[in-house]
Amino acid sequence: STPGGSKVREEKIVVTVRLRPLNKREQLAKDQVAWECIDEHAIVHKPPTQERATQPASFTFDRVFGPACLTESVYEEGVKNVALSALMGINATIFAYGQTSSGKTYTMRGITEKAVYDIYNHIMNTPEREFRIRISGLEIYNENVRDLLNSESGRNLKLLDDPEKGTVVEKLVEETANNDQHLRQLISICEAQRQVGETSLNDTSSRSHQIIRLASSETCKYLSIIVARYNNMFQLFWVIVQTIESIHRESSDCVRSYVASLNFVDLAGSERASQTNAEGARLREGCHINLSLMTLTTVIRKLSVGKRSGHIPYRDSKLTRILQHSLGGNARTAIICTLSPALSHVEQSRNTLYFATRAK
Ligand code: ADP
Ligand code: MG
Repeated sequence: STPGGSKVREEKIVVTVRLRPLNKREQLAKDQVAWECIDEHAIVHKPPTQERATQPASFTFDRVFGPACLTESVYEEGVKNVALSALMGINATIFAYGQTSSGKTYTMRGITEKAVYDIYNHIMNTPEREFRIRISGLEIYNENVRDLLNSESGRNLKLLDDPEKGTVVEKLVEETANNDQHLRQLISICEAQRQVGETSLNDTSSRSHQIIRLASSETCKYLSIIVARYNNMFQLFWVIVQTIESIHRESSDCVRSYVASLNFVDLAGSERASQTNAEGARLREGCHINLSLMTLTTVIRKLSVGKRSGHIPYRDSKLTRILQHSLGGNARTAIICTLSPALSHVEQSRNTLYFATRAK
């Protein structure tokens, strides 16, 4: 049976938007709600009454989740089918994109949790097959790659081009998860290793803190759960990776094996990318640019217009190099664009919606 059942949608890129509620700080500051979800697919800018002269701009997506929606619905309707295609051998990547404090980490945590639950549920219900799950976690900060499962390995791991596996991160630890509890434990080790700056500063309004937040929001967190599925074979995962080619070539062989990556990516705050919307020279200025985030937006934009064969600049950043095989080809992608409802954030929210529109 197909994970996800009959509702499996075949879109390569599923783009959804999640509008969070006003937070305490915004409420205390008497900030106003500037966005309204009209239905399950459309969101509209709702300017305060004195600004009503302009026509409200409405944006439509595969699904729009309002402030009352739980992460459960975001997962079920916007992520599940994409995530579970990894169990069928299709690489899948889930991104959270949005400005700092819009709810990326909040959303990704819940979604990862639910995906782990579903993956193990599927494994339990498929006793005729053997599964191996390996996990690695890394963080990209200023184009330096750090292992979240091995704090000893330094902050600048090299990327290598492996003839069989594509781009690999040198010395990146891959742990085998024995069961769902073990996998959750490994995920929380990754979480604990993250840069402290980002989440702790979301609730402060002081300017100096915001500067630190901008610096620390350069981080791209990446969590890869590699799912290997095969019939009654007891080789180690890397052996499977090496033998999968020949298994595919011998079509008479009834042994079918699948190896796929499922990536959960909690991106750096998009305010780092929107500063670079200007193309050309400004892109190369360097000082405030998050190269990985900017390259990712370019890659996704090109993929979304169907340019799967032309030049796609995967090699321009660490994040896109690492994710190359999980983005192009027949890989599937879910992008959750997170939005602050606050009037004070309206420009950033609009930028996020423009990105989301271009990704579709
Ligand atoms: P980001 O990772 O985008 O910087 P966070 O995920 O840390 O943002 O969210 C910022 C704050 O808002 C956190 O305190 C978080 O708990 C809260 N928050 C985010 N999204 C929601 C939501 N949908 N419902 C309730 N609280 C939320
Ligand atoms: Mg965050």
